[in-house]
Amino acid sequence: HKDLAYAESLIAETPDYPEPGVLFRDISPMLADPAALREVCAAIVEPFKGQFDIVGGIEARGFLLAGYIAATEGVGMLPIRKAGKLPTPAAAVTYNLEYGSATIEAPGVLKPGERVLLVDDVLATGGTIAAAREIVSQLGAVTIGSAVILELLGLGGREHVGDIHTVFTA
Ligand code: IMP
Repeated sequence: HKDLAYAESLIAETPDYPEPGVLFRDISPMLADPAALREVCAAIVEPFKGQFDIVGGIEARGFLLAGYIAATEGVGMLPIRKAGKLPTPAAAVTYNLEYGSATIEAPGVLKPGERVLLVDDVLATGGTIAAAREIVSQLGAVTIGSAVILELLGLGGREHVGDIHTVFTA
């Protein structure tokens, strides 16, 4: 697809960020282009169209995608936040990073059995998506799918999370 290939070309790469040896992918140029943004969000949703009640976005870049998808698909949006941002978190999951750990939290706004699509910008080790699924489960809802724009190969992410839809790989 012409626009999708163009969208992929708009993912910027920065070597040695945030630390030496890491090639950081930044979707900002893709977000800034209306056709690229539209095509990528359509591609994220495509396998799950009509099958979810709410879209969960992981702070911070997942929020941008989830907000757009909520508007185009006519569903609500669940912000999955870094620890300490919510006054009354209803779920919290701590997971391992390469160095140390991270905690994500979510508000108690899901209905029992509500069908959630999880979205984020990049899949690396899969720890973040796995933790977000655990958050949804703690909230009594159901993750019907997970999707990211870019899957970084060779980091075990797909093996870790099992089932995930990715638009591009690198
Ligand atoms: P994981 O938990 O190891 O799969 O890492 C994925 C999380 O880290 C996502 O929330 C991404 O936003 C972030 N992340 C990891 N690598 C990159 C990158 O190269 N660019 C942008 N975000 C990244």
